[in-house]
Amino acid sequence: MPDEKKVVLRRLQSAKDLGKFMAEYYYELDEAAKNGKRKIAWCTSVGPAELLRALGFLVYFPETHSAMLGSTRMATDLIPKANAIGYSPDICSYLTADIGAYLEGISPLAKVFKGIEGPPRPDVLVYNTNQCRDVQDWFEWYGTEYGVPVVGVQTYRNVGEVTDDHIISIKKQMEALVEPLEKIAGVRFEREKLQEAVRLSRKCSDLWKEVLDTASAVPSPITFFDGTTLMGAAVVGRGTQKANDVYNILLEELNDRIAKNEGAIEEEGYRLYWDGMPVWGRLRMHAELFAGLKTNVLASTYCNSWIFSALDPAAPFTSMARAYTELFIVRSDEYKEKYIREMLEFFKCDGILYHDAKTCPNNTNCRYGMPQRLQDETGIPSVTIHGDLNDLRLLSDEQTKTNVEAFIEQLEERR
Ligand code: SF4
Repeated sequence: MPDEKKVVLRRLQSAKDLGKFMAEYYYELDEAAKNGKRKIAWCTSVGPAELLRALGFLVYFPETHSAMLGSTRMATDLIPKANAIGYSPDICSYLTADIGAYLEGISPLAKVFKGIEGPPRPDVLVYNTNQCRDVQDWFEWYGTEYGVPVVGVQTYRNVGEVTDDHIISIKKQMEALVEPLEKIAGVRFEREKLQEAVRLSRKCSDLWKEVLDTASAVPSPITFFDGTTLMGAAVVGRGTQKANDVYNILLEELNDRIAKNEGAIEEEGYRLYWDGMPVWGRLRMHAELFAGLKTNVLASTYCNSWIFSALDPAAPFTSMARAYTELFIVRSDEYKEKYIREMLEFFKCDGILYHDAKTCPNNTNCRYGMPQRLQDETGIPSVTIHGDLNDLRLLSDEQTKTNVEAFIEQLEERR
């Protein structure tokens, strides 16, 4: 059995700046919802946020609310409320937890931010099915509930090579959003404003990539568990200068850690890649479990999902169409395996952990033989944990601990 001990997790000072950024973001939305001076669009996490910003909307992302329901461990009790109105316990537990919270009239925002009662009322909901179909169902439910329009982009799935045909189709769908959104926003679309939002979004993406790439240092100055909260600005703030300011501060701190040879955990014996969703209600527990085993889970497909390197202000619609189609989650297994192989090499990983998230098959990649294929090709072993992003009834902490400990022991024996 590997030597398990309690390890201090080194907190990043700039996490406070991120916290301040998130607070200001939610207060701005709340004020706008109360005084009606700005229109509010709800957007899926990899939806066309840049277009919404160009039209002057404040943009709210329900998935971040669902992640908060998970991390505050409120989700599990709320999911049955949505099940009772016809949404299966087997579908996305972001959707069921969020609708359950709405039906119960409760929100983690009210606990965290004084004076905010819950999510801001939308004027429109905008989705992109690039991540899954669940987001469309989720938004349509709220569209009916609030009596507001729902518009979106239907994307491709299982894409190997991204072709011109894909891009032309998605671009046309994005351009078709302009007219209905102009009417709701009450302003005319200006290409220069979209270009500016795309420019800022690309900058945010580049900074976020730089942040995540610092994990290639040995020892890594950051963990996957840090990344799941630090990514907040990339999700809700891309297309704004404020998000870029936060990442400049964070990057400075991470580079400082690298210069001092200071890792995110005290002793980094093993380096792991995490594939799939985090277990939001177990972030701390998992961070301590791995650190206690001298293991840093330092890179992931999940946090990398907010890197949009194709964005280009010179061709805003085309580049948005490309960026939001090139995403890992949209792609074929062949592409995904190539991508993961490159990540394993770049981040110098000793192993992979797959999270088989019961209610999110879209972000689960271990069900069709990928772990075995990748191990055969790379020689890098893997472990699978069974659980969920939000529904804590679907996981066993004991089983996870046993599997992870056995896996680290296996890595130890290989050395
Ligand atoms: S990708 Fe998964 S977690 Fe995200 S909205 Fe879709 S089903 Fe839910």
